[in-house]
Amino acid sequence: MADCEILVIGGGPAGMAAVLGAWEAGCRKILLVERSEQLGGILRQCLHSGFGLATFGEELTGPEYARRYIQRLQGLPVDILTDTSVIELKPDGTALLSGAVSGLTNIKAAAVILASGCRERPIGTLPVTGTRPSGIFTAGAAQKMVNLGGYDFGQRFVILGSGDVGMIMARQLALLGKTIIAVLEKEARCGGLERNRINCLERFNIPLRTLCTVTRVHGSARVEGVTVRNLSDGHEEYIACDTLITSVGLIPERELAEQAGGGGALPDWLYLCGNACYVHDLVDDVTYEGEAIGRAAADFVRTGRKKAAPAIMNGTRTAVNGKAGKTICIACPKGCPLVKTDTGWSGALCGRKDPVPSE
Ligand SMILES: Cc1cc2nc3c(=O)[nH]c(=O)nc-3n(C[C@H](O)[C@H](O)[C@H](O)COP(=O)(O)OP(=O)(O)OC[C@H]3O[C@@H](n4cnc5c(N)ncnc54)[C@H](O)[C@@H]3O)c2cc1C
Repeated sequence: MADCEILVIGGGPAGMAAVLGAWEAGCRKILLVERSEQLGGILRQCLHSGFGLATFGEELTGPEYARRYIQRLQGLPVDILTDTSVIELKPDGTALLSGAVSGLTNIKAAAVILASGCRERPIGTLPVTGTRPSGIFTAGAAQKMVNLGGYDFGQRFVILGSGDVGMIMARQLALLGKTIIAVLEKEARCGGLERNRINCLERFNIPLRTLCTVTRVHGSARVEGVTVRNLSDGHEEYIACDTLITSVGLIPERELAEQAGGGGALPDWLYLCGNACYVHDLVDDVTYEGEAIGRAAADFVRTGRKKAAPAIMNGTRTAVNGKAGKTICIACPKGCPLVKTDTGWSGALCGRKDPVPSE
């Protein structure tokens, strides 16, 4: 059994920031374990810009943002294992790793930081009847297939759920020349950021149908259509399509924390950060918190005492995200409320002179 001072599980923005925070706080035996073959987490597949305005004062794509942290990590003598999963986290702090290079290995760490991100809610959790032919994908899986694999997997799309990933995919597929018949949302208003509703749907004339849901999938080998129900009057209609994309929620991935807690409270040596803790809108908040958690874990290793968790940032660095009736800036996902002045608009928290009003 090998050992280290801090084991970080997950090499997305949260895990990378946690390593940097722990290093800066004086910790030297740090191991970062990442399931994929590369660091970067979800950022690797987000080719749109909008990342890093608070941290770097510029709008980067996901891979550009990730690269800045990967380069900083590569400059440090910390151990990084990619292509390796933590498959078990025992209540005594021992982690079981399974990887191409490590094989099955036990690691004992004085502190563990779980930065495992979140996963998408699958269609099987929804009350949708009918068949399960090919042609049903979650938005994140579709994004990965298009952006990292270059796959072409459909022509006529219905998107269920107006979460941010679904809206970003709607725009991307429209840019690829696909037909987006509609984005369906069961609530009365869009589920994602106002910036994405405007930039991804409105500007591409993609209809957002609120108070609507899919109740049935049709097709045997491949999706042939869906039944859509209007939830306000119960009316149902058949829409022909060959692909259904779901964007119906993200679930923090923290089964390992539950294992470690043995059904009770989380042990003192275990820290959570990033989307494993709760779903964040902004990568800047994820990074800021990850660094703070890294420092807190280093302090625990040094003193053996856990201090109160660092403050949660979501909602403090992120502004109102476009409450109905307010003009907000849609230049980045923060959605700062804007005030009309004699010369234009002001109020963007980033201080930009040219905020982009939503109306
Ligand atoms: C489509 C989309 C668009 C977005 N757009 C923006 C935007 O424009 N601007 C912005 O600021 N933010 C945006 N965000 C939000 C932000 O990017 C995320 O909140 C952030 O990337 C989450 O970071 P994370 O490290 O917590 O999780 P992730 O990036 O998901 O990283 C978690 C990592 O943990 C690894 N892992 C999981 N389990 C294990 C295990 N058992 N063993 C080893 N490794 C494991 C995974 O492989 C993954 O690499 C967007 C998010 C999405 C999904």
